[in-house]
This record gives sequence, C-alpha cells and structure tokens, in this order.
Amino acid sequence: MNKYESNILSNIKNISYNFGSKSSKIINEPIFTVKQTHGDNVFILNNPAEPIDKIEADSIITNLKGIRIGVKTADCVPILITDLDATFISAIHSGWRGSYYEITPKTIDKIIENFKIDPNDIVACVGPSILSCCYEVSFDLWNKFKIKFGQNKFVFSEKNNRFYLNLARLNLSFLQSKGISKVDIINQCTFCNDDFFSYRRDKSLTANQISNIRLN
Ligand SMILES: [Zn+2]
Repeated sequence: MNKYESNILSNIKNISYNFGSKSSKIINEPIFTVKQTHGDNVFILNNPAEPIDKIEADSIITNLKGIRIGVKTADCVPILITDLDATFISAIHSGWRGSYYEITPKTIDKIIENFKIDPNDIVACVGPSILSCCYEVSFDLWNKFKIKFGQNKFVFSEKNNRFYLNLARLNLSFLQSKGISKVDIINQCTFCNDDFFSYRRDKSLTANQISNIRLN
C-alpha cells in the first residue's frame, strides 16, 4: 500500500508505484534515475544496461518490464504516467523551469509518437509538491507564467500583493489539454507536510524524495 495513493494508478494491474516521502518504505531494488537539470529533455530508456544516471533529462519513458524508474524532487512536481494496459511507464520532474518549458506535454507527445497510445488510454497522477499555500514567487515570474499560460484560477493566486503559483495544477491542466482525462492529483504540499523533503522549507539543505514506477 502506498501512503500517498493515486486512485487512478492503484487501479492499473501490472505496475507498482510510490510517491516518495520520508516515511516511504525502503525499496529493495535499484531505481533508475537520470541526471536532472531542470530542463525539458525527455529520455526514452530502451536498453536496461545503459548507465542512465549520466543522461541529462527530466523525464523518463520506458516500456521495459522489471525496471523501476524514478524522479527526485523536493518541492518540484513529480508526475507518474502509464496506460490502462500498462504498456509503458513514465516519470517526470517538473519544477518551474520544466513547467514553463512544458516538459509534461512534450513527454506525452513522445509517448503517443513512440507507443501509438490513444490519450484516452493514458492514466497519470500529479504527485506531492509545494502548493500555492507556500509557493510565493516574484511578480515577474508569476506574470511570465500568466502571459504564457493565461488565466487559471487554480494556478495563479495573489494575496496582499504577494504572488503564488500552483505548478501541480498547471501540470494537471497540461495533461488534460493533451486529452488525458484519467488523471488525479495528490493534494499534499511538500512545504506544509513534514513527511516530505522541501527545498524551500529546509533552505536547500535537504535530501529528495524519489517518486517511482515500475512495469511488473
Ligand atoms: Zn503549503
């Protein structure tokens, strides 16, 4: 059982997944992670022998069975994806740069292109990240997002001349705009909930949680 459970992902047979937290059970197998750069590179893992920790990317896709892929986050948004028949899996790390440069829609495009999956069959969950209660940003950054992505009351908020973003909701809207309706969101703020590592709360001196998924 996962502590932070996605109803959508938990209904898919032949996968296992976990949104990392301090209290997550230890996973006794290697987790394949890439060298994350806060960019928009999507990596497709075809060869399990490849040393992928040297590859610069923020999104991983594979259809290999028995390989657990993961992304490290500590406030950024982790997203786990598969499809109804569990023919592929994907894990995305989307911070503000990744969100701004749309790594999530780019990943969906690659999935559709490579695996010929109908978006109706894709299922996804947006994991724990820093939410608008705590994610204050400069007006300039807030406005830059607003200019690019338009009004979305779930993404943009302001209070007493302070400006807040909800990147989890922005990534959710990216998934929906790609035609994915079977998607849910773990509504946990990594800053508010001490069970998560938070880069902002812990003033950079922190470890990461690893959100991961595997085709069994
Ligand atoms: Zn919060």
